[in-house]
Amino acid sequence: MVKNQTTLTFYGGVNEIGGNKILLKDHDTKVFFDFGMSFSAKKQFYSPPFLSPRNEKSLQELGILPTIRGIYKFDPAPPEADAVFLSHGHLDHSGYLSFIKREIPVYCGETTQTILRTLSDTRRADLEFNVADIKFNAFRTGAKIQVDDVVVEPYHVDHSIPGAYGFLIHTSSGTIIYTGDFRDHGGKPEMTHEFVEKAQEAEPVAVVTEATNMTGATVSNEAEVEAKLDKIASQVDGIMLAEFGYSDIDRLNTFHRIAKKHQRCLAVSLRQAYLLDALRNDAHLQVPALNEDGILVFRKSKKRYDKWETRLIKQLDEEKKIFDVFDVSKQQCKVILAVSFYDFEELVSIQPAAGSCYVLSASEPFNEEMEIDYERLINWLSHYGLPQYHVHVSGHMMPLQLKATLKKMNGKEVFPIHTENAGLFKKFMGNVGGQVRLTEKAREYPL
Ligand SMILES: [Zn+2]
Ligand SMILES: [Zn+2]
Repeated sequence: MVKNQTTLTFYGGVNEIGGNKILLKDHDTKVFFDFGMSFSAKKQFYSPPFLSPRNEKSLQELGILPTIRGIYKFDPAPPEADAVFLSHGHLDHSGYLSFIKREIPVYCGETTQTILRTLSDTRRADLEFNVADIKFNAFRTGAKIQVDDVVVEPYHVDHSIPGAYGFLIHTSSGTIIYTGDFRDHGGKPEMTHEFVEKAQEAEPVAVVTEATNMTGATVSNEAEVEAKLDKIASQVDGIMLAEFGYSDIDRLNTFHRIAKKHQRCLAVSLRQAYLLDALRNDAHLQVPALNEDGILVFRKSKKRYDKWETRLIKQLDEEKKIFDVFDVSKQQCKVILAVSFYDFEELVSIQPAAGSCYVLSASEPFNEEMEIDYERLINWLSHYGLPQYHVHVSGHMMPLQLKATLKKMNGKEVFPIHTENAGLFKKFMGNVGGQVRLTEKAREYPL
């Protein structure tokens, strides 16, 4: 029997949002696309910090980390993959890079590298997130990267984190498209449109698409989010507490513009400040400088600061940019404070004035950073008399747009991943052109 020359195997992102790990084999070439942490699989067994995996054996035993020969750093066998390509820096696409053998090269956008490095600098290295000694190779949109028999062309897309890419993967059986996570209603829809055009021109044999938003779809865009936040900011008397994704730079820019418009300052966390500072060197991104008007940095009350925090505080203190709870408390009507639910202990010192409010500007519960315990959140909000506004637009394509997009790409086969609703997707896409194939974990699909 002749062995199929090109195959796809999905080790994650199957019946779950995130955890993408896609293996492409073409003759002897083996390339992974994304190597994410699966939050949903982890949640079934663990509840950090008290119940956390001790080592990779536990993760493999429980099926959280797939068993694949020759790719992990704890496996003495020679490397059995030629490269890993990352679509973007969200941990559900990149987190389990930690386990990858260091001799396997990792390709990603420069911004993704910066995001992962700053994340690694600002949190203590642990079993599941450690990118030390990874061999990163940066690419730009439109580059053609040859890995043995395969050529990979990354194209930037719009998503809720900067530096996100979709891929055109040229194989001996034709071109495969991998969308990564994408949308066309954010700050830069033209990037997604360019990717879709290129994908269409390539006449793909297969399209691997995210299909996150099959239930709970909305019609909105980043501009509408800004208009809503503008309205809130124009009415709020006290402090405006804003919760949004740590790496969602589009949203941060939106809050910054709103703050300036209403004579407020956006006070970001030390971690956000550290990331902004690192991303400043990226000529392709619009990121506010820490010494700019309208930006302050909020220092949480802590007994001990980490080294990176002490360094940053010292630098910012000289520029009079550091704000602590007492400064915030005294000037509540002058501040939009970027908070996470885990900072709510600060409210005891801030004592929000009557007329303050809390704006939740995130929804992705599959992002571990943003996972919120709603009942406790509501208790805190009730205690301080803070109404909750939910103003958000998703980082993912909506169903009708996705259908139009897939029709345009016209792939012979379509593989929906990064969704809990692949069956719904298949029925909805019905006449999308190509055949929709539902995937099973770890099964090899010949093209
Ligand atoms: Zn994702
Ligand atoms: Zn994402």
